Amino acid sequence: MEAYDLLIVGGGPVGLFAAAMAGLHGIETAIVESLPQLGGQLTALYPEKRIFDVAGFTSITAADLADALIAQAMHYRPALRLGVTAQSLEAQEGGGHVLVTSQGELAARAILVTAGLGAFLPRRLPAEGLESFEGRGVYYIPPALREFRGKDVVVVGGGDTALDWTWEIAQHARRVYLVHRRDEFRAQPGSLDRIRQLPQVHLRTSCELRGAMGDGSLSHAVLEHLADGLQETLEAQAIVSGLGFHAQLGPLKEWGLTFQGAHAVAVDPATMATNLPGVYAAGDIAAYPGKVKLIATGFGEVGIAMGPIRTYLHPELRGGLPHSTNLKGAMERS
Ligand SMILES: Cc1cc2nc3c(=O)[nH]c(=O)nc-3n(C[C@H](O)[C@H](O)[C@H](O)COP(=O)(O)OP(=O)(O)OC[C@H]3O[C@@H](n4cnc5c(N)ncnc54)[C@H](O)[C@@H]3O)c2cc1C
Repeated sequence: MEAYDLLIVGGGPVGLFAAAMAGLHGIETAIVESLPQLGGQLTALYPEKRIFDVAGFTSITAADLADALIAQAMHYRPALRLGVTAQSLEAQEGGGHVLVTSQGELAARAILVTAGLGAFLPRRLPAEGLESFEGRGVYYIPPALREFRGKDVVVVGGGDTALDWTWEIAQHARRVYLVHRRDEFRAQPGSLDRIRQLPQVHLRTSCELRGAMGDGSLSHAVLEHLADGLQETLEAQAIVSGLGFHAQLGPLKEWGLTFQGAHAVAVDPATMATNLPGVYAAGDIAAYPGKVKLIATGFGEVGIAMGPIRTYLHPELRGGLPHSTNLKGAMERS
């Protein structure tokens, strides 16, 4: 069984920063993330929105912040288990834990839960023939927007996610079809108006995506007009889901952690320790009096947790974390 000093459950911004901090302080780490991509809410929920309250950046898009965090974390080469959901946690006699995941077991001496809102799973597009094109034309998390240059793209959904994607993709694509099964959209006022002004965007309301076709690569999307049942086949080299994700805390609830409310794990804010020995939590999932759910807070919580985690792993290293500026070989560490 693979064994690590520290398993980080959740590859969102807080888990990524934790991987960097852990690496910096010589702690061998693996990140377990249910999505096939790192970044958490930044990449899954609002990649193109600008963030104004992260230290060091007047403004930065969520996608760019995620990229920077990924680069910082990967400098220390944490093991990555992507598309893998942490399911149950078993404490071992004599210390240490075995994490049972959707793809096997991992052993670690300490666990840091940075699971945010829970494991993200995409709301599946209800159409036939999509699976074979997943990641190669059919996307639940879109690739870099330049991938859409000159293409005909179908975006499915009627909320903010779908409208934001339509706007962003339309800056690159030849045509974008926005397909929504209702007549009305549930999005911020103004989003629909700005999209309507783009000649390359075509609305298909009261329509459902029924299928995808292509010989090797995706070439067409099949829609059904709900009013009359007529089918329409569109040229499309990409289909993007704007249906969003649902988050499942599910398995974590069985670990024996003390929860505060339904969605947050109670921690000691002085150490970020949970009620389970060797299990810590940080970021949106961690709860204590006065908690503020912000990226900046999550980064601070990682700073608080890393000293106690290091001491838990190496009892001889007592006291606080040394400043990174005092760490010999920090630049070379990987
Ligand atoms: C629209 C929107 C705008 C926002 N704007 C701002 C802003 O301007 N400033 C700001 O500071 N904050 C903002 N936030 C909040 C910010 O995104 C969160 O505070 C931050 O993402 C929390 O990071 P995290 O790493 O704790 O959790 P998350 O980002 O939620 O990441 C947790 C990750 O853990 C994974 N995971 C969970 N359970 C499991 C499991 N069992 N197995 C494997 N993986 C698992 C999930 O799939 C997810 O990727 C915004 C949020 C939203 C939705």
